[in-house]
Amino acid sequence: MAVSSTSRLLNGGARMPLLGLGTWKSEPGVVGKAVSVAIDSGYRHIDGAYSYMNEAEVGAAVKKKIAEGVVTRENLFIVSKKVPGELFPVQEGKVLVTDIDYVDTWRAMEGLVDEGLVKSIGVSNFNISQLKRLLSIARITPAVNQVELHPYLTQPELVEFCASKDIALTAFSPLGSPGRALLNDSADPKDLLKDPVVKTIAEKHKKSPAQVLLRFHVQRNIATIPKSVTPARIQENAEIFDFELMDEDLQSLLALNRNWRVCQLTLLQDHQFYPFKDP
Ligand code: NDP
Repeated sequence: MAVSSTSRLLNGGARMPLLGLGTWKSEPGVVGKAVSVAIDSGYRHIDGAYSYMNEAEVGAAVKKKIAEGVVTRENLFIVSKKVPGELFPVQEGKVLVTDIDYVDTWRAMEGLVDEGLVKSIGVSNFNISQLKRLLSIARITPAVNQVELHPYLTQPELVEFCASKDIALTAFSPLGSPGRALLNDSADPKDLLKDPVVKTIAEKHKKSPAQVLLRFHVQRNIATIPKSVTPARIQENAEIFDFELMDEDLQSLLALNRNWRVCQLTLLQDHQFYPFKDP
């Protein structure tokens, strides 16, 4: 029983599948297999970035699946993200912020659309004031804003603002990035997969907590990109289009908000995540 669309129309006319595979911290050597399993499991959206340092292997896996005739390029929605300059430069323990204005970066990205090099352009981690500034100069409205979203960080004002401007949202870290040292070390652990409210809703629908957390987004027309390199989990995370959360379930999940972020800027200072050298 299909209970909602599996994709959403973007303001530029393309369609974005609501479920994608995340690839951050999917190690080279395993990420290709994860992409391959995901495509076999029906994923048609792959989320990548230059900074994940694994895009070549992601691309090779996609190419192989196209060559095998499993999927066509036209049926795949591939996301990449670029940073204008050196990746996360650090000096004396502090992340150096670029002096390139994102408005200039946006104009360059619009040029890529003009040249036919990309179909849709969007932003990531933009707040409302940044979006307003961008919209005031943009020839092309951002198709997507990719931000952290899950029941502990529901960002209602941003969700409403993006809806009002027809900017689609993609929810990253939808499972709350379980297993990170940051979470385990905390005196107040924030494990969404073990949250009693999430678990109760999952039991009610005979689904897993992860499936409830992903359904929470797609049922609201928000795309989501769970990362996994585990074939059984990649498959599990795809099985979210055969049940429907009730309005009271959605309200209970939204009520869990505590404005808590997995992706805090301090993470960028943790060199174990990034194979970059101090300048
Ligand atoms: P997620 O919330 O997707 O969690 C990923 C973790 O959950 C992995 O450890 C994975 O383990 C585990 N997992 C996956 N499925 C299940 C399941 N069904 N049951 C139990 N555990 C599960 O976190 P991410 O931070 O990775 O976010 C997802 C993606 O969002 C990233 O990979 C990246 O593509 C994107 N992102 C974008 C950012 C941005 O700034 N634009 C920032 C952060 C993320 P395992 O792999 O071992 O199976």
